[in-house]
Amino acid sequence: MQVLHGAKNLPTAESRMIGVTILGSTGSIGISTLDVISRQSDKFHVKALTANKNVVGLLEQCLRWTPEYAVMADVECAGKLEQALKDSGHDITVLSGEEGLCKVCVLADADYVMAAIVGAAGLLPTMEAARNGKRVLLANKEALVMSGKLFMDAVNDYHAELLPIDSEHNAIFQCMPADYHDGLCKVGVEKILLTASGGPFRNTPLEQLHNITPDQACAHPNWEMGRKISVDSATMMNKGLEIIEACWLFNTTPDKIEVVVHPQSVIHSMVSYSDGSVLAQLGNPDMRTPIAHAMAWPQRFPSGVKDLNLFDIGRLEFEEPNDQRFPCLRLAREAMETGGTATAILNAANEIAVESFLQNKIRFTDIPLVVEKTLQNVEGHTVNSLDIVLSDDQAARNYANIVIEGLK
Ligand code: NAD
Ligand code: MG
Repeated sequence: MQVLHGAKNLPTAESRMIGVTILGSTGSIGISTLDVISRQSDKFHVKALTANKNVVGLLEQCLRWTPEYAVMADVECAGKLEQALKDSGHDITVLSGEEGLCKVCVLADADYVMAAIVGAAGLLPTMEAARNGKRVLLANKEALVMSGKLFMDAVNDYHAELLPIDSEHNAIFQCMPADYHDGLCKVGVEKILLTASGGPFRNTPLEQLHNITPDQACAHPNWEMGRKISVDSATMMNKGLEIIEACWLFNTTPDKIEVVVHPQSVIHSMVSYSDGSVLAQLGNPDMRTPIAHAMAWPQRFPSGVKDLNLFDIGRLEFEEPNDQRFPCLRLAREAMETGGTATAILNAANEIAVESFLQNKIRFTDIPLVVEKTLQNVEGHTVNSLDIVLSDDQAARNYANIVIEGLK
C-alpha cells in the first residue's frame, strides 16, 4: 500500500464517521472541502470550522453544518459569532485566536485536518495537527515553505499522514511509485515536471507589467482562488513556493524539479522515469479532485467534478518559463538552495509585498524587488526550532516593510 508519510489505521467509514476539522473553512479551499463532504455525508462529520474575520460566512456554515466548534482568529469577531449562534439557538462552542485554532486540531475525534488557512498564520495549527498524528490534508504550502524540516520530522515522529491538496503535488503523489520514500533515484524517478498555467500575464508585454492592477492580477484564467494565491500565480511565486513544497514532500532537490508552463491547466504535473516513461495526472482544473482524492485515499469517491472532455479541450500546449518575466521563480529556487530559514524569509517578504500590492501601495513589478532585497539583507539561520523560524519570519516582515516605505 502506498503511504505518503506515517502509516497508521484511521477509523474507516465502516467503523464510524470520520471527524474533520477545516482550518480556513470560509476560503476557496474550505468551501470546496465542504462541497466534497456534502456528497459524502455518510462518511464524514464536520467537527470544527474556522475563519479569520468573516463572521457572516462562518455563521452561515455553522448553521448548515452544526460543527461542535467554531473558531475565529479575531477575538472580537469570535464574540459576534458566539452571540449570533446563541440567538439562533445553536449550541456550538466558539473559540478564538491561535490557541482556539490549535485546540480544534488536536481533538480526539478530529481525524482529518484540512489545513487551508492562507499564509504563515496556518503554520502553528497545521504543525499541531501533525504532532497529534492526524491525517493532514495540506493546502497551506506555507507550513512546508517556512519550516519544511520541522514539519516533516513532526509528521514522521508522530505518525501523522500527510496528503497533498495542492493540485500539482497531489498529481505528483498519484504518479509516484509506492516506495519513493527510499529516494527518487532508487525507484527510477529522474525528475518531477511541475506544471504551471503561467497566470494571467503570460503574454502581456513586459513594459506593461508595472501597470497591472490587483483585480487584473486576481483574475486567473483557469482557477478560482483566494486573492493572495492568485497574485502569487500571476508573479509565479506560487510555482516557486511549490518547488520548495515538492522538495520537502518528495525528499528531493530543486535541480530535480522542472517547471513546465502548460496554459490549459489540464495536466496537473508529471513524473519522469529513467526508462523514458512520463506519468501524468489529468483533470479539469477544480480543487475538489485533489481534495476528494486525499479524503478518500487510498480509495476513491466522487467529487462532483465534471468529466474531462479532451475533445472540447483539443490541444495541450507546453512552454519554458521566462525568467525575465517571472523573477520570483529564480528567487524561490535560490532560497531553497541556500536552505535554513531563507525560504521562511522569502515567504514572509512575499506575503508583505503581496498585501501591499493588493492595497495599491506598491506596483506589481515591485513584488520581486521587495523579496530580493529582503533576502539579501535579512540573515538566515539553521532551522532547529520553530522559534528561529518565527523570529526570522518577523525580521523579514519588518525589513520588507522598510523596503516598501522606500519605494513609495
Ligand atoms: P482564501 O483567501 O480563499 O481563504 C483563506 C482562509 O483562511 C479563509 O477562511 C480565512 O478566513 C482564513 N484566514 C485568513 N487569514 C487568517 C488568519 N490570520 N488566521 C486564521 N485564519 C485565517 O485562500 P485559499 O485560496 O482557500 O487558500 C488557502 C491555502 O490553500 C493557501 O495556503 C493556498 O496557498 C493554498 N492553496 C489554495 C489553492 C486554491 O485553489 N485556492 C490551491 C492550492 C493551494
Ligand atoms: Mg498549486
